[in-house]
Amino acid sequence: MSDFNWCHGPQCHEKHTVDRVRGVKGSKVLRTRKINTRGRQELFWYDYFCSQQCYDDFANTYIQQVIAIAPRTECLETPIHDPKKEKHTHEFSWGNHSYTTTKIEVDETRQR
Ligand SMILES: [Zn+2]
Repeated sequence: MSDFNWCHGPQCHEKHTVDRVRGVKGSKVLRTRKINTRGRQELFWYDYFCSQQCYDDFANTYIQQVIAIAPRTECLETPIHDPKKEKHTHEFSWGNHSYTTTKIEVDETRQR
């Protein structure tokens, strides 16, 4: 297994940064960035893309193929108990401060 990946960003080699400049005088190029994976087995998205921009460029270019891997044709639902509003009050020397939160709990008794 290789210890590096080339960035998969489709425009990575077009970005004007000095770290991408390679080659000898008179025939310089902007080259796709190399990403060191240090021989790890488990790789994440940032082991294939040098930046969030390159990741976004790839996703926007290939979105139809990416979605085709696991298309979502129906919504998914997680059963929950009726949400409960809770008021929290804190007393300070200069007065009270209160805020409300809504507690949402998964209903494990209902089929998912
Ligand atoms: Zn890149």
